[in-house]
Amino acid sequence: MKIIDAHNHPDCHGHDLDKFLANMERYGIDQTWLLNWECQENEYDFHYKNVLAGPVLGSPAGPVPFSRCISYKERAPEKFVLGYCPDPRLPDACARLKAAHDIYGAKVCGELKCRMMYDNPDALRLFRLAGELGMPVTFHLQYDRQRTCDDPRQEWWGGTIDTIERVLRACPDTLFLGHAPGFWIHISNDALWRDHTYPPENVKVVSGGRVPELLRKYPNLYGDLSAGSGCQALKRDPEFAKGFLTEFQDRVLYARDFFDHQHQEVINSLDLATGVLEKIYHANAEKLIKE
Ligand SMILES: [Zn+2]
Repeated sequence: MKIIDAHNHPDCHGHDLDKFLANMERYGIDQTWLLNWECQENEYDFHYKNVLAGPVLGSPAGPVPFSRCISYKERAPEKFVLGYCPDPRLPDACARLKAAHDIYGAKVCGELKCRMMYDNPDALRLFRLAGELGMPVTFHLQYDRQRTCDDPRQEWWGGTIDTIERVLRACPDTLFLGHAPGFWIHISNDALWRDHTYPPENVKVVSGGRVPELLRKYPNLYGDLSAGSGCQALKRDPEFAKGFLTEFQDRVLYARDFFDHQHQEVINSLDLATGVLEKIYHANAEKLIKE
């Protein structure tokens, strides 16, 4: 079966292009969406210096510069789909997105990961342009866990699930891919999101969560299963996960945001119909970015 990883980054976790391609080969991945990450230096935690090349080099273009995505794409064009999302607060954000699309062939607007509310007017303007250009927007949502002023580098990104609902409503012609802990914790209708970045092991999903609700209500929302957050959302309750992936088989994409195999292991253990797997592993990704 063809497999597309719909969320990954260049030069991360010790992977250069050769290691990246070898890793894709190892896990049977045919193509990867290669996303940048652009935000201010004071917005991300120092621990990213251990895993991303951009902060180590003090890149002014953010933790994952788009130039590195372009470099991979030029050296292995058939293996990658380019993604680029500018910091929406930059005055030239729309011009940057348009240039990435027109000049470099970027197909995805992602990854968006900035310390701002995503329904800020600058962001909405950028999202509407992404919709016009046919670029789905991949966003990172993560709740504020800061309880005191002692740890000013504590991270939050994007706002809350209500922020996302306002975005979905404000930009009906733009497709969005929900990603990260603040999104996937809402697969369940419980209060874990208030205190937990990730749900504790094996805490079953309570039906009626905001993620299924928003997927039903807004046809412009999709789910990016990448990282521990997406994997954990499935793993915590396999029975629920099977129903969820079957109901939203047209709206959920296999993705990693890392170089591991855990998502395939979980997805393949759920005894899903072949047609459902085809959509999750590649057909939905292909549908979202018309080459
Ligand atoms: Zn990412």
